[in-house]
Amino acid sequence: MFGVGFDDSICYLCILILSMTPQVVDIKEVGELKFLLSKSRNIVVTCHVSPDGDAIGASLALWHVFLLMGKRVTIVTPDQAPKSLSFLPGIKDIIPYSCYVGKVNRLFEDADLIICLDFNSLSRVDKLAEAFNITKAQKVMIDHHLYPDNFADIIISQPKMSSTCILLYCVLIQIGLKKYINKDVAECIYTGMMTDTGNFTYNSSDPNIYKVISELLEYGIAKDDIYTKVFNTNTESRLRLNGYAISHNMRIYKSHRAGIVTLSAEELNKYNYQKGDTEGVVNIPLSIPGIEYSAFFREDAEYIKVSMRSKGDFPVNTICEKYYNGGGHKNAAGGEFFGTLEEAVALFESLFNENDKYLSNENEAV
Ligand code: 5GP
Ligand code: MN
Repeated sequence: MFGVGFDDSICYLCILILSMTPQVVDIKEVGELKFLLSKSRNIVVTCHVSPDGDAIGASLALWHVFLLMGKRVTIVTPDQAPKSLSFLPGIKDIIPYSCYVGKVNRLFEDADLIICLDFNSLSRVDKLAEAFNITKAQKVMIDHHLYPDNFADIIISQPKMSSTCILLYCVLIQIGLKKYINKDVAECIYTGMMTDTGNFTYNSSDPNIYKVISELLEYGIAKDDIYTKVFNTNTESRLRLNGYAISHNMRIYKSHRAGIVTLSAEELNKYNYQKGDTEGVVNIPLSIPGIEYSAFFREDAEYIKVSMRSKGDFPVNTICEKYYNGGGHKNAAGGEFFGTLEEAVALFESLFNENDKYLSNENEAV
């Protein structure tokens, strides 16, 4: 028999410390958050407009946890979730403000706590901001976007984290709610971690991501099925729309290492566009070696929706903030342009000289 000696103990302690989930909330906030949760009876969980996998995953994960804790809780989204997420447990219980204005206003009036997930400014909840005007509830923000606005009572903002879902997971562990994490919660959290990193292909070098994934897998989630449902399920019309967009409307500006894709309302209509059908199109030009940033412009009813992606240090969030009424992360950002599709593209082209300073020093041949 071998006893556990002093060296072994230190070793076990090191392993324990190294495998610990990162501490993301400071001690004072842990106390405040726990107190707020313990006294809250009517909770609303909400996220940003055009919610993605991270926003919906985080909202549903927290909803499941609160239900298991015996809380009265509702998820309100500014508008509907994409169809690709319809497999997530609980998604049918989400109430979109765009469909139920009166009901959501009453929920906000009655709420004593509102948890704001995956957004850092009320400009990101679209018309749902009106419900925020009437509520007296305390607010907690849990988010990973840069420069949070000061609209919440507790702000847990970690821009270095790759998704709100991984941040939420760390928060849950830290405030002692691990016992409420089950397979449903794990599935929702994994989905957000996966979608915000393009299935762990960007912004995904933090080793903690993989520690958390291994913990989530222990709950029995079907990781590969989740990928297939979210990223590899298409309708015929979606595939044809994407093929058309790339074949007819992709422009590559070799000397500025940029690429764009556009889709007009007429083109979207022709291919029976459904929400979510153009997800991922913005990444296509970036797959060409030498291209360092790309943009996708889609003509929606009220504005041109802009999406941008980049590699390395090229800050597309700066362009979106300055010129397209938006923001986001350095390598994935978006915004809205009020004008025609042609004007949105002309503006992008007019910025080439200004943006050339962000290009890397590597002079790859295109
Ligand atoms: P996507 O291109 O997938 O719509 O958005 C990528 C990221 O850009 C989002 O996660 C979000 O952080 C940011 N983003 C997209 N659209 C907007 C917008 O209209 N305003 C702001 N502030 N950020 C946006
Ligand atoms: Mn996110």
